[in-house]
Amino acid sequence: RNTAEKFEFQAEVSRLMDIIINSLYSNKDIFLRELISNASDALDKIRFLSLTDKEVLGEGDNAKLDIQIKLDKEKKILSIRDRGIGMTKEDLIKNLGTIAKSGTSAFVEKMQTSGDLNLIGQFGVGFYSVYLIADYVEVISKHNEDKQYVWESKADGAFAISEDTWNEPLGRGTEIRLHLREEAGEYLEESKLKDLVKKYSEFINFPIYLWASKEVDVEVPADEDESSDGDETSAESSSSDDEESEKSEDEGAEDKPKTKTIKETTYEWELLNDVKAIWLRNPKEVTEEEYSKFYHSLAKDFGDEKPLAWSHFTAEGDVEFKAVLFVPPKAPHDLYESYYNANKANLKLYVRRVFISDEFDELLPKYLNFLMGLVDSDTLPLNVSREMLQQHSSLKTIKKKLIRKALDMIRKIADEDPDEANDKDKKADVENSSDDEKKGQYAKFWNEFGKSIKLGIIEDSVNRNRLAKLLRFETTKSDGKLTSLDQYISRMKSGQKDIFYITGPNKEQLEKSPFLERLKKKGYEVIYFTDPVDEYLMQYLMDYGDQKFQNVSKEGLKLGKDSKAKELKESFKDLTKWWKSALASENVDDVRISSRLADTPCVVVTSKFGWSANMERIMQAQTL
Ligand code: ADP
Ligand code: MG
Repeated sequence: RNTAEKFEFQAEVSRLMDIIINSLYSNKDIFLRELISNASDALDKIRFLSLTDKEVLGEGDNAKLDIQIKLDKEKKILSIRDRGIGMTKEDLIKNLGTIAKSGTSAFVEKMQTSGDLNLIGQFGVGFYSVYLIADYVEVISKHNEDKQYVWESKADGAFAISEDTWNEPLGRGTEIRLHLREEAGEYLEESKLKDLVKKYSEFINFPIYLWASKEVDVEVPADEDESSDGDETSAESSSSDDEESEKSEDEGAEDKPKTKTIKETTYEWELLNDVKAIWLRNPKEVTEEEYSKFYHSLAKDFGDEKPLAWSHFTAEGDVEFKAVLFVPPKAPHDLYESYYNANKANLKLYVRRVFISDEFDELLPKYLNFLMGLVDSDTLPLNVSREMLQQHSSLKTIKKKLIRKALDMIRKIADEDPDEANDKDKKADVENSSDDEKKGQYAKFWNEFGKSIKLGIIEDSVNRNRLAKLLRFETTKSDGKLTSLDQYISRMKSGQKDIFYITGPNKEQLEKSPFLERLKKKGYEVIYFTDPVDEYLMQYLMDYGDQKFQNVSKEGLKLGKDSKAKELKESFKDLTKWWKSALASENVDDVRISSRLADTPCVVVTSKFGWSANMERIMQAQTL
């Protein structure tokens, strides 16, 4: 069109589109789920605005918050329409092509190393999946604050935008028209689309309709064209030998039929989904499979891995809410990236079934950002701005309860994992459950999210002890397996007061440490802490129950009474004195007779509040 304005896609977006177009990825179905998810997001947005301003919805059909799918078999067009918020001209330019999202390049990179296109939604570029099945796409959109526009592109590096003067006015919302590729004909089959909506969009909270054909019986005048004179006998003879006609013959004895029934194809909107929210249902009536599917739709992760755990509960009291929390099977690609700056909350907040936001930091502490789920509260007010809501006092109560439930849920992964049970009682407890599935689950959790638990210990003093229970590590005696503080304590030697640990870059190096010589000889167990974050962790984790932590490379190590200590100290007094004076005092505080070594003659020990050698190493690495 002459009046169309032309734009070039941002370079990364262009690369992404090339990858999609040339992809041999077999599961092209995913485009529908991405489009429906976008439609649902747009509907959530307008519904949210309507809470404070009813006018935005308009009247009649415009106010119907639904999603409509239509097929045009002849022209090979599949279209998906929503009455969501719509896009202004500027939105179209920015959202669909010129501003690359942070996930764009990450996704492009991932695709180049045998990535899974299925994850496209997680990276925030789901829209472009339309080019898996279409070679030409039109996006017609009407936002309340702008005219109706058409965005179009053949994915050839450019797109065009025109004011829409030829299509039917949308009122408000967006219609995406996919001009299907030759080989994508299956997406013109109603049954295929019905299946896909069932499979992928079960948990969309707006009705999804398909303009579906239907065979209906219509009454037409009996043999209109044959019997020009309306002769009754000829009508009877034409409907000869099937049952129904026999019946009509019988009836006809009293009341001769003037009409007959024929099949005709008509079209009507067929509702494809059940919009009852899963979190409102009784947990007892929701199956494991339903939770699993719900998780996948929330996480936009459509692999076949089940979530590691979930918790579905109703909180009562001052603040009422329902919530579903999930522990994902895998950490997202950017979980710990810019941990302290970026908001990566994954919890959706609803107020009385209305979606409010998925960007509320106030619901969970940062260290639990790996959890997925939602909260729906009846207590929070509906008709206030997001900002006001963010400051609502109830959020604190909700947060507190969510943390509690989240930590319980995580502890349960361990409790139900047969690999975790060391003592016989516990083993018997878990052995009668479906433990094959639960086996090794906690180790899996720990590998994916252990760092989050450590960050929690650092940040959340209120729940520090609860979180410390969830800690896992290897020790001098754990035989390469993970163990817990409780297990460590149960194995402590009689008379042992402290929990011993050592920090370093890796286990191999620590195993050879002279600091362990004597401890090992005497049969004490020592924890290996080899993650850089462990140094910080141990600055916050001072004790666990009645036990204190002791870094074995630091001052203060006590291994029971040594009867000869005093005597030795005396006899080597001159040597230690000389040695101390021989070393510069800014490097060494003191030189002492030690009982911590067995074979090594001497060792450098860190003072109680000084940085361990490992911490020095970490700090140096950071400043370089
Ligand atoms: P995401 O949904 O993760 O943001 P997408 O690539 O799916 O990423 O969509 C890009 C953006 O395009 C959306 O964030 C939204 O702003 C806009 N968009 C896409 N579809 C619609 C729609 N049906 N209605 C309104 N805006 C839409
Ligand atoms: Mg999307």
